[in-house]
Amino acid sequence: MFKYITCFLCFCVFFMACNGAKPKSQDQNKLYVVTTTGMIADAVLNVGGDRVHVESLMGPGIDPHLFKATASDTVKLLQAQIIFYNGLHLEGKMSDILEKLKRQKPVYAITDSIPQELLRSVGKEIYDPHIWFDISLWEKAVERIAQVLSEKDAKNASFYQERSQIYREKLQKLHTWTASEISKIDKQRRVLVTAHDAFGYFGKAYHIDVVGLQGISTSAEYGVKDVERIIDLLVTQKVQAIFVESSVPSKILESVLDGCKKQKHEVKIGGSLFSDAMGDAGTPEGTYIGMVQHNVKTIVEALQ
Ligand SMILES: [Zn+2]
Repeated sequence: MFKYITCFLCFCVFFMACNGAKPKSQDQNKLYVVTTTGMIADAVLNVGGDRVHVESLMGPGIDPHLFKATASDTVKLLQAQIIFYNGLHLEGKMSDILEKLKRQKPVYAITDSIPQELLRSVGKEIYDPHIWFDISLWEKAVERIAQVLSEKDAKNASFYQERSQIYREKLQKLHTWTASEISKIDKQRRVLVTAHDAFGYFGKAYHIDVVGLQGISTSAEYGVKDVERIIDLLVTQKVQAIFVESSVPSKILESVLDGCKKQKHEVKIGGSLFSDAMGDAGTPEGTYIGMVQHNVKTIVEALQ
């Protein structure tokens, strides 16, 4: 019975949203863009400025691997004029709804424009979705967003292109800064241990070894062997800190800390990193650039 009621409600929501188009509360001259993650919303805002009204479905601390769209999220998706999502299965529980929406409106995966050879392969035709941690790849995603906005809203194309150019220059500076900061850490101790494997692109781009207890998705299981492997690495390379993530419970890393203690190697929590979600809106970490700066400073301080 419950199933039928849910179906009926979904139908009502769908019907209302299709009829309603843009919510009345919004400026009708602005393009209504809905994104999955906060990082993508931040990129759209940097390119679109006051010509777009952008909303992200996932706020601070939300894990995109486990996120399911609620009824009100569905309304937003149905009302959106353009939808941007990450793709490469980051939004694993949203693939059905995104596929359905693709049949009726512009829906873009920002990772679609990134050449396959630049993606991190983690299995047969499986690629690591966390591309935002290589700033040069994120720059490509921003370029793609500017291209889509320019196509869909041609009268403002030069406005979007100009802003995209300015923002991408900031990203290039951030990329150079990140590389130079990470290089300050002694090579042997340049190991980043986190709960899940979100920093693979970061490691590759900025030459730091990255080890995650879970795989590339927080929904993956981990076992005693994974814990032992990490403890061994920390002890042998004398790494002094591991990191928690804002969107993943910190409990996962406790077994690693305990294991190191038993081997008389003191390891501390080096701080909290923003991995799959940004910080609170209105704080520096609530922007993509601020989030990266926070992570880099935290890593360098703890490992140097
Ligand atoms: Zn992740």
